[in-house]
Amino acid sequence: MTMKERNLAFLYSPEIEALTYPPDCPFKMQRAGLARLRLKSLGLLGDENRFEFAPRRASLAELKQFHTAHYLEEMQRAADGDLTVDGLRMGFGGPDTPVFKDMFECGAWACGAGRTAADLLLQGRADVAFNLLGGFHHAFPDRAAGFCYLNDVVLACMKLADAGKRVLYLDVDAHHGDGVQAAFYGRKDVMTISLHESGKTLFPWGGFEDETGEGAGNGFNVNVPLPAGTYDEAFLTAFDSVAMPLADAFAPDMLVLELGLDILAGDPLTHLRMTNNVVVEIVERVLKLNCPILVAGGGGYHVENTVRGWALAWRTFCGENDECDFALGMGGVMLASTEWAGGLRDRVLPVSPEQRASVEPELRTTMETVINNVFPLHGLEAPSLGGQQVRSG
Ligand SMILES: [Zn+2]
Repeated sequence: MTMKERNLAFLYSPEIEALTYPPDCPFKMQRAGLARLRLKSLGLLGDENRFEFAPRRASLAELKQFHTAHYLEEMQRAADGDLTVDGLRMGFGGPDTPVFKDMFECGAWACGAGRTAADLLLQGRADVAFNLLGGFHHAFPDRAAGFCYLNDVVLACMKLADAGKRVLYLDVDAHHGDGVQAAFYGRKDVMTISLHESGKTLFPWGGFEDETGEGAGNGFNVNVPLPAGTYDEAFLTAFDSVAMPLADAFAPDMLVLELGLDILAGDPLTHLRMTNNVVVEIVERVLKLNCPILVAGGGGYHVENTVRGWALAWRTFCGENDECDFALGMGGVMLASTEWAGGLRDRVLPVSPEQRASVEPELRTTMETVINNVFPLHGLEAPSLGGQQVRSG
């Protein structure tokens, strides 16, 4: 597939514009609309090959493929202002799962958009489909958590798998994709790989390297917990040493990429220290899998950084050259800040020796564990990680 032939779809419609979480909640549905406006202003959205597509709302029958009927009833009831004891037990009304008028509609539209995106990929109408409304990877069949109520990424993976596709779910959000892990833990037709800030320092407090799947799914669930303070080079070393060899070995027909940008330095809820330059690297790597890609939004609580990072991802999928931008980023004075008016790319952030020393040994041990646990199950040999450091900067 040449760059010119790649078709990108952006899922959006006017109905979605008005949907909102409570104003005091850090999760902002508006990020998708802001990304859309940014792309339009850059001339990267709104032509034949880079088109907007209106999703449909997910039906109850679709939502029931993952969620229980009782949960869906309680959620609609809570949205209408009637929070029951059962609803409370299901997580509604917690600090990260507020009860609000649009709680059901936000999820139903996000799930519908995920399913619509899956359809576009299955029909060959798009090679890459962006659902920035979604990425609700913490939702369980009967439990809400971490701003997530209805799990669009599970439902999208299910649709692709039901069509007979081998699906790779790759989650780079700062939080572990626990709901998705649970959904496919015993399956080998949907492989899940999650790189995330370690559960030792961040919600949902799990997603460790010894969680590798069960039964037929053993080896098809991969977690790479990252130490707090993880920076671009360390992340990319883990991505290249662990995620990509497994992705290549799995040889997916379809990729679902959860591109939560709470990995970026400056995010108010997490402790990683990446820049959006890793977004470009991730996109370039997953394109080499040579399969259709669904991109789901996910986290990202510094709104401007998140929107800019998603726009950068889209631009990279478009195959647009950004050398000029990158030169600005590299040539600028290196400040310990991601505030930057030079383009879509972040400045390169310097890594202190202390940061390196606190991240590298722990990450190397994690990578070795994952490699030892999982690589043999896929006929892969352990790569040499080097004895001194993960990767010199
Ligand atoms: Zn997150």
